[in-house]
Amino acid sequence: MKLVFHGAAKEVGRSCIEVQTQGDRYLLDAGIKFKEGGLAYPENLVNLPDVDGIFISHAHEDHAGALPLLEHYKIICPIYCTKLTYGISKVLLKDSYKIARIKNLHPAYTKIDLKQVEKDVRFVKYDHLYKHRKIKFVFRNAGHVPGSAMITITDGEKKLVYTGDTKLKTTELVKGAHTFYEDVDALIIESTYGDRDLPDRAETREQFLAKIEEVIARGGSVIIPVFALGRAQDVLIMLAEKKFKAPIYFDGMAKRLTQRILTTPDPYVNNHAILDEMFNKKVIHIGSPKHREHAMKSQGIFVTTSGMVQGGPVMSYIEEMWHDPKHAILLTGFQCKRTNGRHLLDEGFIYIDGWRTYVKCEILKFGFSGHADKEDLKEIVRRVDPKKLIFQHGDPEAIEAMRSWAEKQNKWRVYAPEIGEEIEV
Ligand SMILES: [Zn+2]
Repeated sequence: MKLVFHGAAKEVGRSCIEVQTQGDRYLLDAGIKFKEGGLAYPENLVNLPDVDGIFISHAHEDHAGALPLLEHYKIICPIYCTKLTYGISKVLLKDSYKIARIKNLHPAYTKIDLKQVEKDVRFVKYDHLYKHRKIKFVFRNAGHVPGSAMITITDGEKKLVYTGDTKLKTTELVKGAHTFYEDVDALIIESTYGDRDLPDRAETREQFLAKIEEVIARGGSVIIPVFALGRAQDVLIMLAEKKFKAPIYFDGMAKRLTQRILTTPDPYVNNHAILDEMFNKKVIHIGSPKHREHAMKSQGIFVTTSGMVQGGPVMSYIEEMWHDPKHAILLTGFQCKRTNGRHLLDEGFIYIDGWRTYVKCEILKFGFSGHADKEDLKEIVRRVDPKKLIFQHGDPEAIEAMRSWAEKQNKWRVYAPEIGEEIEV
């Protein structure tokens, strides 16, 4: 068994790992990466000879966003993923195609390719052993977002485990990852938080809810920018804990994704009943720009995309409220460099219609994450205890931190591949 890295090697984005075995060729994930002025796709896919199967760990675009591109290159083969991963991907792929067209980012595929993806998808149930050509594979819960999976592939000689993105601890929305494996020859593990600890989630949740109550008590409104998949639903479940003296509004693409999550049975989605009650009974759905404009005029808790304040309805709320210090903007996840969210946190401004605007609202960030932090990543490695250990899906510093820790343990053969690098399992 041989691995070739086409993306997510010493970077976050465009995950795509080729697995060669017994004359066949498979891909683990097919993601894209957002970069300034456009999109980056996995390297060296254009001339790839026949692919016999594609395995998708979860719906985020850095793992599934290049699927239509593969179709465009006529790489046509079964695409294996969970039902929920496909349900969510379908919404995200369509949306990102639309946005890419609007922003002139030139997606390298057409609408027809999106349809072809649907034809090739094969649903996989968690914890079932499947056979395909000369390999066997199993999808296990990865704990990252609804539908996310860790993928095990065996070819009769070697066993490979790929974590995709993973979280060890159970969160509001997803149960913690499955981490019990035997006789693993190679573990390919994500390293997003390889150099960082995350704060205690229960404590952070308490501080978050207390802050909302404080802002409401002083007569302000609360804007909560969320990622459409995962954080939006986490936040709804958190908000169910308290009775607030202001209505909760839910806005943006998260509405469609929450609907998918609620209507697709999945054994690892947590707090389904609470989410259902919040979404269908407790929150007010913003249905139109007019409705939004009206809602903003009085006090409210506005849960809305996008999570890094890079477009979406959140911009309208901030445009209306930026000048008033009694309001608050509570960021709920990682903010990439050069995004409005990061500018807000570090420098207190955002760009509204190209104008730099210094926001007078209270601005705070709460460290909720769908990824394992560095201690949990180490715990996963110790539990799986593979012969070969491969770190990917992390910034160079995060990868380096994990690599140097692992080498000191003297238990595993450690790799931190570059793009294009090949590893014999
Ligand atoms: Zn992800």
